[in-house]
Amino acid sequence: MPKHMPDLDLDQTLRDVFGLEEFRPGQREVIADVLAGRDVMCVMPTGAGKSLCYQLPAVIQPGLTIVVSPLISLMEDQVQQLRDEGISAVVLNSTLSAALRRQVTAEIEAGFNGLLYVAPERFFAADFMAIMPRLKPRLFVVDEAHCVSSWGHDFRPEYARLGDVREQWDWPTTIALTATATADVRKDIMRQLGLRSPGVYVTGFDRPNLRYESKNLSKEIDKDEELIRLVKAETGSGIIYCATRKAVDAAAEMLKRVAPDRPIFTYHGGMENDARTQNQEAFMQTAGAVCIATNAFGMGINKPDIRFVFHYNLPGTLEAYYQEAGRAGRDGRPSKCVLLYSFKDRKIQEFFIDRIGEPAQGEYHDALPDPQTIVELKDHARQKLDLMLSYARTFRCRRQMILDYFGDTTTEVQDCVCDACRAGKGDAQDTGVDLSRELDEETITLVRKLLSGIARMKGQFGAATVAECLAGSESDRMLRWRLHELSVYGLLKAYHVKQIVAMLHRLMESGLAKQRDPDGVKFRPVVELTTAGVEVMRGAQRPPATLADLMPRGRGNSSGRSGGRREVRAMVEAVEELDGESALRFERLRKMRSTLARERGVPAYVVCHDSVLRHIAARPPADIMQLGRIKGMGPAKVTQYGEAILAALRETE
Ligand code: ADP
Repeated sequence: MPKHMPDLDLDQTLRDVFGLEEFRPGQREVIADVLAGRDVMCVMPTGAGKSLCYQLPAVIQPGLTIVVSPLISLMEDQVQQLRDEGISAVVLNSTLSAALRRQVTAEIEAGFNGLLYVAPERFFAADFMAIMPRLKPRLFVVDEAHCVSSWGHDFRPEYARLGDVREQWDWPTTIALTATATADVRKDIMRQLGLRSPGVYVTGFDRPNLRYESKNLSKEIDKDEELIRLVKAETGSGIIYCATRKAVDAAAEMLKRVAPDRPIFTYHGGMENDARTQNQEAFMQTAGAVCIATNAFGMGINKPDIRFVFHYNLPGTLEAYYQEAGRAGRDGRPSKCVLLYSFKDRKIQEFFIDRIGEPAQGEYHDALPDPQTIVELKDHARQKLDLMLSYARTFRCRRQMILDYFGDTTTEVQDCVCDACRAGKGDAQDTGVDLSRELDEETITLVRKLLSGIARMKGQFGAATVAECLAGSESDRMLRWRLHELSVYGLLKAYHVKQIVAMLHRLMESGLAKQRDPDGVKFRPVVELTTAGVEVMRGAQRPPATLADLMPRGRGNSSGRSGGRREVRAMVEAVEELDGESALRFERLRKMRSTLARERGVPAYVVCHDSVLRHIAARPPADIMQLGRIKGMGPAKVTQYGEAILAALRETE
C-alpha cells in the first residue's frame, strides 16, 4: 500500500464503487490521512458524508476494518447497503442467532477482508474476546465518537474502554467520527482513545440554505399565535420540536383546531411503539405533513424535503438545536428554522439539569457517575444552556455563531439570510441591528454605564435585576433590596428592561462581564465584571469593536423604527384618549389602586402605573387571561391584583 495514494485512484473509487461524482468538503483530506496511517478526529454534521471517510479507505486497502457503532438497529441497514454496492461487510451483534454469530466469528477469524460492524459491548463479550488476540485490524473506526466522552450528550461507559481495546491491538490507525463535538469534547475523545497527533477536521457545519431566526416570546399565548402564523405560512412539511410530551400534545391539539385540513402527527416517548412508528411513516409519506415531537424524534429521519423546523421551546444545547434544526432542507432548498423561546423554557431545561445523576427508570444506582462527576456534569450542562441562550439572543449572524460554536473555521459565511443579517441589511422585518456601524462615543458611554451598573451590584444579582435597576424599574425587587437607592438606579431609563438584559448578554458574549453560579447547585447566576470589563469601565481600554451595534435601533415588536427608547412608548400612551365610559372606569380603577396601596403600605405606582390603568380602562379585559396579556401586568401583578381589577371593572358597568 503506497503511503500517498494518487488522487486519481480516490476519484475513480468514488465513482466506480460508490457512484458519486466528487468529494464533499473535507472528505478527501480525511481519507488521505487515514490512508497514510494517521489517526483522524473527524467532526462533520449528520448527513455530511462521514461514512465515506472510512468506507472508501476500507475498500482501497486490504485487511479488516472494525467499525464501532452504538446503533445496532441501523447497523444491519448499513451493512446491507454496502453489500448492495458490492462492498464486503458483516455485522456481529447480540440480535443475531447463536448459529449465525458462530458463522460470522469463524469468517472473521479466517481473515475476513472488509468492514466488520460491532457494538462496543462486543469487545467485552466472551466469544469475541476469545478471538480478539488473533485479529489484526487495519483500520479501527469509532462512529458516534462523542459517546466516548462524559462531556458529550450521550456518554456510554463501554465507549470509554475503547482506548484499552486499541492498546490490545497495538494502536491500529483509528478514525473517530461524530456530528456533534465542541472543542472540549473533541479533546476528551482524542485523549480517551489515545489518538496520536491526529488530523483534526471540523467541517461541513455551514448550511447556507437554512434561514435561522429566533424570537423571544415570554407569554405562552404569544408563542401559540406565532406558531400558528408560522405554520400557516408554510405549505411544505416540517417538524415542530417541544421540550415535553405535554407540550407536544397541547401544540398538536391547538394546530389541529386552527388548521383542520393539515396532516398533523405527533411523536414522543410516552406513545406506544406501534403508534410512534405509524406516525413516523405517515409523516415521511404525506405531503405537507407536520410532525410535532420531542427530541425523541429524528434519529435516522432521512426526509430531504423538510421545509421547516420550528422549536416551540429552547433546547438544552446548541448541538441539540443544530441537529434538530438541521433536519430541514437536506435537499439544499431554502428552509426555515425558527426558535421561539421564553424565560420559562430555561426553567424547563434547568429542571432537566437538576435531574442529572438521578437514575432513569430501570437503571441501577451503581451505574451512575460519582457525586463529584455529577456536579461537573451539571456545571457543564449549565454552561451549554447559557451558550444556547446566547444563540437565542444574539444580534450576531446566527450561521457564523454556529460555525464558531463547533469550531468550523473552514467556512466563510456569505449572503446570510438569518434574521440578524437581514436586520443588518435593513430588511423591513428586522430586529433593529446595523452590523456595519462604527463604535461611536455614545455606544462607548452606554457600555460604560452598563458596566457601572454591574459593578455597583457587587456580583450579588442576576442580569434581570441589574437591568431593572438600570432602567429605574419600580418592581418589588428594587424596594425589597433597596436598589432604588443606588447611584446607578435609572441610569439607563431610556431603555426597556428587556433591551438592557439583551445588552448585558452582549457584554458577556464579548468577555467584559461573566456569570457566576454562587451556590453551585441551582442555576441562579449572578453577573460580575471580568478584568477586561473593569478596564473598559475605567476608560483604560476601549470596548471591543464587536459591540458597535450594541445600541438597539428599533423595538423588536414595534412597527416604528424611531429609536427604541422608552419615550416613544410614553408618547404613544399619553395620547390614549379616554371617552366618558372609559374615563369612569379609569377613576374606579384609580380608587381601587389607592385602597390596595394603602392596605399594603406601598406607593400607588407599585400597584399599577397610570398608563396601565388607562389601557385597562380603554380596553377592558374580559377575564384574567386577557388581563395578563396587557403590557405592565406581569404574572405577579395579575395574581396579586387581578381579581380586584376585574371587580372594579364590573362595578362600572
Ligand atoms: P453522515 O454519516 O455524516 O451522517 P452519511 O455518510 O450517511 O452521512 O452520508 C449522507 C448521504 O450523503 C449519503 O446518502 C451518502 O451517500 C451521501 N454522500 C456522502 N458523500 C457524498 C459525496 N461526496 N457526494 C454525494 N453524496 C455523498
